[in-house]
Amino acid sequence: MPEKPHDTARISFADLVETLQKIFVKAGVSEANAAVLAVNCAGCERDGGLSHGVFRIPGYVASLNSGWVDGKAVPILERSGPALLRVDARNGFAQPAWAAALPHALDMARQQGAAVVAIRESHHFSALWPDLEPLAEAGFVALSMVTGLACVAPPGGRKPVFGTNPLAFATPVAGAHPMIFDFATSAMSNGDLRLAARAGHSVPPGTGIVRSGALSDDPKQILDGGALLPFGGHKGAAISLMVEILASALTGGQFSSEVDFSAHPGAETPRTGQVIIVIDPARGNNAVFSERVRNLIDSVRDAGQARLPSDRRYRTRESSEREGISLSVEQRDALVRMAAG
Ligand code: NDP
Repeated sequence: MPEKPHDTARISFADLVETLQKIFVKAGVSEANAAVLAVNCAGCERDGGLSHGVFRIPGYVASLNSGWVDGKAVPILERSGPALLRVDARNGFAQPAWAAALPHALDMARQQGAAVVAIRESHHFSALWPDLEPLAEAGFVALSMVTGLACVAPPGGRKPVFGTNPLAFATPVAGAHPMIFDFATSAMSNGDLRLAARAGHSVPPGTGIVRSGALSDDPKQILDGGALLPFGGHKGAAISLMVEILASALTGGQFSSEVDFSAHPGAETPRTGQVIIVIDPARGNNAVFSERVRNLIDSVRDAGQARLPSDRRYRTRESSEREGISLSVEQRDALVRMAAG
């Protein structure tokens, strides 16, 4: 899939969803699952999350063609307690499993004040913010974590054991969009490392190591038998370890280091687990929660932070809704061919 440089084509969200849905169905995804994946992927593109927008379509298709992931999987939901829902995604994509669980998560959080959704046997190949935005829009605080493919070594180590293990947090904000942050717990995302290698650029110190364990600023060497490092030294490593524990050990999914798709050439998606934690902030006599968050965010802006997480994303969404989603002509034509061919 060509990247976005040259002549720009504009496409509406609805048209992009329809095109992506056709591509997923042609690749063997059920109509219901394709609808969920298409909205998720088009939403990333609309909001400027380009690393998880249409750029990912060839990876989705290659993984489906390799037989590694089941596009028709129907998740099994199992209540393990008043506030705990376990979900077996049955080797399908995580987004349809989460779509099936979401109404139950909302119901549990309303009834019990909190809910934990533990998804296993799932392939997450997207950003996490789309999973959390509906929760924050409904007034809940939420966290999510996902494990991936082992490419991150612990500090002082030589061997990759963690995935890039993203962590996302969402909160309602009175009178404004929810504030959501969502990032990998590695010093750099795998995609950015590959882009740097392709462009022949060096990467900042602390990004990764070479095979011997020595630090390197050469992305090619990091990719060739080396490993990324967690962000923030031992602090980031502890957070990445927590992601493995909550998204894999707690859910019953595979650890990043256990993923083995060597029997499925072409596969790209990690078959691991995802946890989503939902809290009703209005419980505990805290009805003014979202106003207090708004005041706090205003204080942070007043203190001088010009950009907060989500600012860029909402701005990009607004311009996409006004002018259409921007793709390169090559990207648009490639998608249309894939949908038709
Ligand atoms: P970034 O380092 O780009 O950080 C993204 C987050 O930080 C966003 O919430 C963004 O807000 C915010 N942000 C970025 N720059 C600033 C700034 N200067 N000031 C304030 N806030 C800022 O993200 P990553 O490259 O680590 O991850 C990108 C995506 O990749 C994530 O969505 C993540 O979920 C996904 N991912 C998915 C994986 C998977 O296995 N499914 C694995 C790894 C990553 P805004 O959105 O407004 O820009």
